[in-house]
Amino acid sequence: MPPVLDTRGRTLRNLRVSVTDRCNLRCGYCMPEEEYVWLPREDILHFGEIAALTDVFLELGVDKVRLTGGEPLLRRDLPRLVRMLAAKPRIRDLAMTTNGVLLAEHAPALKAAGLHRVTVSLDTLDPQRFARLTNRTTHAQVLEGIASVPRAGFTGTKLDTVVMRGVNDDELASLIEFGKSVPAEVRFIEYMDVGGATRWSMEQVVGRAEMLERLERRYGRIEPVVETSTAPADRFRLPDGTTFGIISSTTAPFCADCDRSRLTADGLWYLCLYATRGIDLRGPFRGGAGPEELKALITGGWRARTDRGAEDRLALGNRQPLVQIGGLKRDPHLEMHTRGG
Ligand code: SAM
Ligand code: SF4
Ligand code: SF4
Repeated sequence: MPPVLDTRGRTLRNLRVSVTDRCNLRCGYCMPEEEYVWLPREDILHFGEIAALTDVFLELGVDKVRLTGGEPLLRRDLPRLVRMLAAKPRIRDLAMTTNGVLLAEHAPALKAAGLHRVTVSLDTLDPQRFARLTNRTTHAQVLEGIASVPRAGFTGTKLDTVVMRGVNDDELASLIEFGKSVPAEVRFIEYMDVGGATRWSMEQVVGRAEMLERLERRYGRIEPVVETSTAPADRFRLPDGTTFGIISSTTAPFCADCDRSRLTADGLWYLCLYATRGIDLRGPFRGGAGPEELKALITGGWRARTDRGAEDRLALGNRQPLVQIGGLKRDPHLEMHTRGG
């Protein structure tokens, strides 16, 4: 089957599957509130439903699948879903993004189930700062979780850090050094004005250029790693050969190559992180639509895709958070923790 292309010639290739909207942290840039309107339990897709919908995407050319959330490890028995997905030969890359809190207890089972790679979010090496950032005191568990990843036999591990001015932008080099010890490649994510980031301001964003400048002052000349990929991170190499990435979604978006879409835990399909509406796949699926009907729905949706959310945001002059708290309360699908980051 020829690749399915959108209106800008971008291929449908990369699917992020959110398995729950719940989380055991309250990161200020994602879930600043304590209480949320959760997705109705009966709407949450069962593992069999996720696997069946994934099959439809695989037949249309998707070959990279990432499990996310909310916190994916809060979903009971996640290794069972991993096992179901790992058995699908069309998936070339099966990864998971986690906050790491529950990772130490689950890493061996995830590896045994066939998960290929793990990305752990880590914004700070300082426990007190972690408590301020996440409203929880589980920093030690996150570090144990990260240590458990290579022990379980995983390679290609990544650590993702959202960089915020005056919050953790003094830790760029310490995080790279920590990454070396794991070993894991660190990726610095520019703070985005999306979903629950209701306290976002442009002043708090540390852009790619500034991150590189600061790191060059510390390490000397930094070379870009030349590669052809649609991965969101631009990769760089330090003089000692250590590589790291920068995901410059805010100051230099990569929408032109974006092959990513997102399936929420209740089966809505979003074609852009910034999209305000998704395509309902749960309704047709539970209503008895077969693979051909679902294929037509997905193909039609992708072919009509015009999204370039981060580029549109960049073109705005006076940039404010995308959605205010009232809008998020009315539609939890606008939350980053619902659509999976
Ligand atoms: N709970 C898991 C975790 O934190 O790794 C997976 C879901 S989380 C929504 C996925 C990613 O989105 C995390 O790396 C998180 O740091 C990132 N994220 C959430 N809100 C963000 C924001 N406002 N700007 C940049 N990245 C954000
Ligand atoms: Fe933090 Fe991830 Fe939870 Fe959002 S979903 S609050 S980024 S741990
Ligand atoms: Fe892709 Fe939308 Fe992000 Fe641009 S803003 S890279 S189109 S998900």
